[in-house]
Amino acid sequence: MDLRRRVEAMRPELDAAVDGVLASGRYIGGPPVEEFEQAFAAYCGVPHCVGVASGTDALTLALLAVGVRAGDEVITAANTCAMTVVGIERAGAVPVLADVDAATWTLDPTSVEGALGPRTSAIVPVHLYGRCAEMEPLLALAREHGLKVVEDAAQAHGSTSDGRKAGSLGDAAAFSFYPTKNLGAFGDAGAVTTSDAEVAERVRRLRNYGQREHLRSDERGINSRLDPIQAAVLLRGLARLDAWNERRRATAAFYWGRLADGGLGLPDANEGHVYHVFAVRSPDREGFRRRLADRGVETLVHYPRAAHEHPAYRDLARPGLEQSERHCAEVVSLPLYPELTDAEAEAVAAAILD
Ligand SMILES: *Cc1c(COP(=O)(O)O)cnc(C)c1O
Repeated sequence: MDLRRRVEAMRPELDAAVDGVLASGRYIGGPPVEEFEQAFAAYCGVPHCVGVASGTDALTLALLAVGVRAGDEVITAANTCAMTVVGIERAGAVPVLADVDAATWTLDPTSVEGALGPRTSAIVPVHLYGRCAEMEPLLALAREHGLKVVEDAAQAHGSTSDGRKAGSLGDAAAFSFYPTKNLGAFGDAGAVTTSDAEVAERVRRLRNYGQREHLRSDERGINSRLDPIQAAVLLRGLARLDAWNERRRATAAFYWGRLADGGLGLPDANEGHVYHVFAVRSPDREGFRRRLADRGVETLVHYPRAAHEHPAYRDLARPGLEQSERHCAEVVSLPLYPELTDAEAEAVAAAILD
């Protein structure tokens, strides 16, 4: 992925966005942050969006705002990146890993049910690679057991589930605008979306030292604000997000067609998928990557180990996470981003078939 292509294509608008903030004299909060929050809330189909400093912070603050308390257990998918686990732990909660479904690569409701305990207070489905988790059974479980659902939508800007946007499916959602995400800033940024005005208000306080009014902390918060320069840049990107996602889908459809007989495990062909990553599975991943590298094709792995397979998180291991472990052992991401050309995608496909 070469993000300089995006900068080149958007240079005049990006310069204008940054200049506007510099000329405004206001470098924390202000109109660009509010405009972006309103525009992104509308995009996700919810009344509220609160900009924060990163996707990890968004997850932490969303969990705190929906009422997760110190010592509570929060269930999430074992095949996620460590960032999800970090976001849960920073809310004072204990992450409990559940397995994923072999076809969708997202949370398996049966495994979630098996992970429930008396201290469980929330579920964090991860819309991995831009494909929404199967929400209905998870929401039903949450209703039945009085749990909150906070989406990890860091890879799913614009993704849909039954026609509803990621970010509007649970009690709250956490988005990251890390530069390589479907909607990316040029630095760190994130946001919480929610339909609940009280949750939104609580995130607003928590991100700003717990202050409801200036210099009066009503509860203990942190500093996690969305930078106005990033907000101004994100507003420009948001106008292009649907077109970028369309382009991702078109490239994914091309790979599907060309690689159908390529001997790889292909991703679930879900309608609302926005292909943050086009991940395939190969039982001989390292050999596959080496042979592609020899042909000039760079690949990455999202993610090479399940959450509990990191040295720092071995204590999260539980029985019954086999699908996640296998997924992380075999998965490999092909080049796919909006600025990838047709000729480049064809070269990737040809190298794989070769
Ligand atoms: C990127 C990402 C995060 C973390 O976002 P940051 O902005 O890097 O803090 C969390 N969860 C998932 C699934 C991600 O892809």
